[in-house]
Amino acid sequence: MLKPFEVHIQAEPLTRFEHELDAASWSGFQGQAARARTLMAGRTFWNISSTARGGGVAEMLHRMVAYARGAGVDARWLVLTGTPAFFHITKRLHHALHGSRGDGSPLGQAEHALYDEVLRDNAEELLVLVQPGDVVLLHDPQTAGLAPALAAAGARVAWRCHVGRDTPNAEVVRAWEFLAPGLAAARLTLFTRAAYVPPQCADRALVIQPSIDIFAVKNQPMTPAVARAILASIGLLRGAAGAPEPVFTRADGLTGRVSRGADIMQSGAEPDPEVPLVAQVSRWDPLKDPAGVLRGFAILLRQSPHLRAELVLAGPAVTSVADDPDAAATFQDVLDLWRQQSHFVRQHIHLACLPMADLEENAAMVNALQRHAAVVTQKSLQEGFGLTLTEAMWKARPVVASAVGGLQDQVVHGQNGLLVRDPGDPTEFAGAVRSLLEAPEQAALLGRRAHEDVRAHFTATRHLADFVRLIERLDAPG
Ligand code: UDP
Repeated sequence: MLKPFEVHIQAEPLTRFEHELDAASWSGFQGQAARARTLMAGRTFWNISSTARGGGVAEMLHRMVAYARGAGVDARWLVLTGTPAFFHITKRLHHALHGSRGDGSPLGQAEHALYDEVLRDNAEELLVLVQPGDVVLLHDPQTAGLAPALAAAGARVAWRCHVGRDTPNAEVVRAWEFLAPGLAAARLTLFTRAAYVPPQCADRALVIQPSIDIFAVKNQPMTPAVARAILASIGLLRGAAGAPEPVFTRADGLTGRVSRGADIMQSGAEPDPEVPLVAQVSRWDPLKDPAGVLRGFAILLRQSPHLRAELVLAGPAVTSVADDPDAAATFQDVLDLWRQQSHFVRQHIHLACLPMADLEENAAMVNALQRHAAVVTQKSLQEGFGLTLTEAMWKARPVVASAVGGLQDQVVHGQNGLLVRDPGDPTEFAGAVRSLLEAPEQAALLGRRAHEDVRAHFTATRHLADFVRLIERLDAPG
């Protein structure tokens, strides 16, 4: 019997935002919180997803549930349990929604039956917990098939899709056909971009963009010296005498220490911290194109052998993300490609798998890497939104991103970062990275603007207001 489990989240006081907002925005934010409290009085706001860690959905739920609870809303988070075969199918769906064939495995009746069976098991437990009138927000293709059972029990069900593709192709159509029967029971469907809305959902779609939590461990201020100390302690940079301790502040206010090492593939010594670092931090997923980043950087090194720069490709330890069964194979492909490079190229490219055993420690590692990097890239072939980019922009990093999906909603080319028009072209990518490395002052200016743009559009204050809108729409008659 497969049962969902609960991720228990402590309330986070909204007063944290008081010093980040001007008086009018702070008062507006408090008004939204009061409205949410009133609307949800006596009811629960359930979130259901397929993994408690790794990836943008888990990242966001940890923080948004905490703030919703801080607003006085009984927000809760359940994670469904699946079998390897189930996650194989849902990963295939995930790729298909991006327009990619993935491993090309079928999405037919047999797969549908297996998908439904796992969700039926999970639904049995959910139906004990969810009461009529409760709001249920289902996340991503793994959960879409839960909508009919929950709606029949009287819950107000919305489904949120965190992925998508601007120009649908046959794979996208196949994925929507698979999901359509479940989605028919959802009152509303939520998308990151209007271009992602399929015809099946056009009559009940809302666009809500994701956000980062500027107070999360991952985004907390960190001095350059501490960032270097953390990267040295995980084995990624050369350590320095007299360096500070590799510490960070945990969500409960206590001091945490980065003690675990990362699994690192590098040829020769750790990089000198003075050499500019180019970094991409992402799950090991072919759509994040780590191989393309590696190829592009190799071109850069060959074209400009005297340019001082190192590349780090970092991602979670390959077995740590439950709903991402292909991570190990993707990492292996990147490793094989790295091995095929010349000794010179290999010396400047480092692959890092970051331990996920302690999520706050992992967040401190990601924070250190993003803050230390001279350039952060997100060279995805497809990308629903790309929180890694938002995080780097919040840290005022100059960024290079592919002009695909939600990355385009964050970067205005030449204003707050650079966009690479053809995501499949490693040479264009290499040129964009080089231009930032060669003009650090211009790069810093882009980074400062990036920080302000994230503050204006992609923080939890905007996101909570969107949730109020969502609840109002779900409660509206008809
Ligand atoms: N992430 C992490 N540890 C890692 C790699 C990634 O915590 O080793 C986080 C990253 O910081 C970001 C999220 O995973 O918060 C990825 O979200 P994004 O929207 O970029 O992509 P997704 O993984 O959801 O496709």
